[in-house]
Amino acid sequence: MQFADRLNNVETSAIRELFKLLGRPGIISFAGGFPDPALFDVEGIKEASNAVLTDAPGAVLQYGATEGYGPLREGISGFMANKGAKVTPDGLIVTTGSQQALDLIGKTMISPGDKVIVEAPTFLATIQCFRLYGAHIIGAPIDADGVDVDKLEKLIEEHKPKLVYLIPTFGNPSGATLSLQRRKRILEIAARTKTLVVEDDPYGELFFDTPPPPSLLALSGEVPGSREWLAHCGSFSKILSPGLRVGWLIAPPELLAKATMCKQFSDAHTSNLTQATAAHYLTLNRLDGALAVVRQTYAERARVMAASLQRELGDSIAFNAPQGGMFFWAHLTGANGKSTSAPEFAKRAIEKMVAFVPGAPFFAHDPDLSTLRLSFATVGVDRIEEGIARLGQAL
Ligand code: PMP
Repeated sequence: MQFADRLNNVETSAIRELFKLLGRPGIISFAGGFPDPALFDVEGIKEASNAVLTDAPGAVLQYGATEGYGPLREGISGFMANKGAKVTPDGLIVTTGSQQALDLIGKTMISPGDKVIVEAPTFLATIQCFRLYGAHIIGAPIDADGVDVDKLEKLIEEHKPKLVYLIPTFGNPSGATLSLQRRKRILEIAARTKTLVVEDDPYGELFFDTPPPPSLLALSGEVPGSREWLAHCGSFSKILSPGLRVGWLIAPPELLAKATMCKQFSDAHTSNLTQATAAHYLTLNRLDGALAVVRQTYAERARVMAASLQRELGDSIAFNAPQGGMFFWAHLTGANGKSTSAPEFAKRAIEKMVAFVPGAPFFAHDPDLSTLRLSFATVGVDRIEEGIARLGQAL
């Protein structure tokens, strides 16, 4: 069959290939990017879905508005207000996961050959999605405090990109969090250079000890002109349930209108049943309690992973322990005569029945082959210790 030219630059993800091996019994997997299903508030979601099917079956089983289910748009507006970001219900649309918000941004903003700046490394599905629209993707380097703003500023001036895509808080895969000072500078640069910045924030609520700095969206009120150049993608996937497929897009009115038009041709609207369930859930006052358990559980797993990595791999591996989210980003240093090739290491690890994701696919170009991503989210502490010990034997 003759497929569309736009598919020429996109391959199925290397990670998917790896996932085929993960079904083996006994394997300890740090490769996934899923939240722990044992932490889903099943009772709360049951209560919410029963309530909406009882109270408004006609509305939740019917077609609905492309922009989203009214009570949920209000609920998200309140949720964002609690995080310091002012947005009216009609300043956002509900999307089918934040993945769809990213796709709508790609569809509305990117023409073939347009330049887009992302963090190096960044979320693989965004690289793939933007490439599908023909983006020429440029990576900006990061460190423990997120993207290097001096270099980002130079890249923006040099390439005049269509947009800059950032995951400022507990990045996937980097685990890094952009400092407050850098956040403000990015907003200033966006306003001054009139560059659209897309803030993807699915992990901000998953902090361990102290909340992260406010989102770019929350800070945009302090930097004149920046809100006009800012889009924000949010999601209930990591805080409530990814299976609901409920995310949202906040963007300047013109962009939001175009995205809504594109969504109309894509899925008409996000499931009313799951939107109404999420909206009702927010009124149950259960989210804070459920999130407290998730934060505590992930914090402990992250602490155990950091200690185990230090104990079992020593200075052969370097990493910055994350302060939230679901991921460790690490690199093989080559100390003690050990390998610096993460792909080779991944193969030996699979033989020892432990898995992680080599970091190369997370780079749009010039991959660093010594890097890897480890997720602690779905593995209990005993299994983390055992899995990292196996990694120590595989290195
Ligand atoms: N952005 C990032 C950075 C992610 O890691 C993910 C999911 N892994 C998404 C967006 C998409 O999430 P969802 O569509 O479930 O909201």
